[in-house]
Amino acid sequence: LSDRLTSALQSLSRKGRLSDADIDATAREIRIALLEADVALPVVKAFIAKIKDRAKGAEVSQALNPAQQVVKIVNEELVGILGGETRRLNLAKNPPSVIMLAGLQGAGKTTLAGKLAMWLKKQGHAPMLVACDLQRPNAVNQLQIVGERAGVTTFAPEPGNGVGDPVDVARRAIEEAKHAQYDIVVVDTAGRLGVDEELMKQAADIREAVQPDEVLFVVDAMIGQDAVTTAEAFRDGVGFTGVVLTKLDGDARGGAALSVREVTGQPILFASNGEKLEDFDTFHPDRMASRILGMGDVLTLIEQAEQHFDQEQAEQAAQKLTSGQLTLEDFLEQMLAVRKMGPIGNLLGMLPGAGQMKDQLASVDDKQLDRLQAIIRGMTPAERADPKMINGSRRLRIANGSGVTVREVNDLVNRFFEARKMMAQMAGRFGFGGGGGGSK
Ligand code: GDP
Ligand code: MG
Repeated sequence: LSDRLTSALQSLSRKGRLSDADIDATAREIRIALLEADVALPVVKAFIAKIKDRAKGAEVSQALNPAQQVVKIVNEELVGILGGETRRLNLAKNPPSVIMLAGLQGAGKTTLAGKLAMWLKKQGHAPMLVACDLQRPNAVNQLQIVGERAGVTTFAPEPGNGVGDPVDVARRAIEEAKHAQYDIVVVDTAGRLGVDEELMKQAADIREAVQPDEVLFVVDAMIGQDAVTTAEAFRDGVGFTGVVLTKLDGDARGGAALSVREVTGQPILFASNGEKLEDFDTFHPDRMASRILGMGDVLTLIEQAEQHFDQEQAEQAAQKLTSGQLTLEDFLEQMLAVRKMGPIGNLLGMLPGAGQMKDQLASVDDKQLDRLQAIIRGMTPAERADPKMINGSRRLRIANGSGVTVREVNDLVNRFFEARKMMAQMAGRFGFGGGGGGSK
């Protein structure tokens, strides 16, 4: 894929504008990348349509070629979708908070219970695990082992009581947590290999009985295209408030993340990436977007191109500022750029060490800037480029044209020359900028 993309990038790099053809060519590559990442087809289609829309309305970047620009838009959109509603765990006002885990068998629920418990403990919580998977003979024991490793208590039905009722276990566990002052209860539930009615009903019953603050749908990132049907089944059968992706240490490109997010609208809260308890982290949308796109190198290139462009712009500005070639046109541009950021008073207030200059700065109010702007606008382009030519009669014309006095025009022109001289002197002293002051 990267070869194809590279050639697309090259073939597009010569053009200056984003045409429909540019967008379509890159969109095709993106479509393949998403499908290769196992994003479900309907999700891919909807996503590509959205991207095309946005790319068509986008301003043409000067820093990037069209293909890079489309990839950048795709990446931003992906990060937005994956993390648009990133949020913390919902916890109850009156503890214990209840976090219920749901998902297919083998998704990684029991392992996650231990990871979550350890993570919560590190955050200063006192979590308790609850074994509500009474389906598989060994499930309770597995949770107990995980709990021991995490250093937390596991609530389990007394052995020898037959199969037991998970709803009852969950209820009793929460009573126990209140008593013993655990502030978070993590409920592990049973899963089946495929979606099935009985499993859904059991999970729904547990949810109904314990009213969790959070129901986390645990999904194996390797599940690929099946992510959509599984997520829909759990959404309709149990309902969930958040998603955890597991097995991200595998080679899955993570398309399941995008599918589940798009289809259910629920946020992805955590990521599991290994069998050990510490292989766990909060979910990072940017990392996942880059993984799904599989274009890490291209994204790095884009970032570098943009940085390089910004740097060039800054250097050009500095060069002008210090070379004694600053014009009133530049001056006006700078002023407008600064003013776009808000009222001048606010800006000055944010400057560190502006204390002593306060009085002086206080006199620079927005009205005054309006007048300066009016004066410069009243000049011809030639006058702005070469302020030396602004003689007496020109000053009178400018003053009349912009509704100010000749004195104000004089003030502006004189201050401009002073500023320009000062900049050039500073540049000379510090050995940077143009004007022949280079040290080599
Ligand atoms: P459950 O049936 O949903 O409770 O799933 P388990 O927690 O029992 O996990 C099923 C298998 O997947 C176990 O062998 C785990 O060790 C393994 N597993 C769980 N999470 C991860 C993960 O993030 N990465 C890897 N490589 N294996 C995992
Ligand atoms: Mg389990």
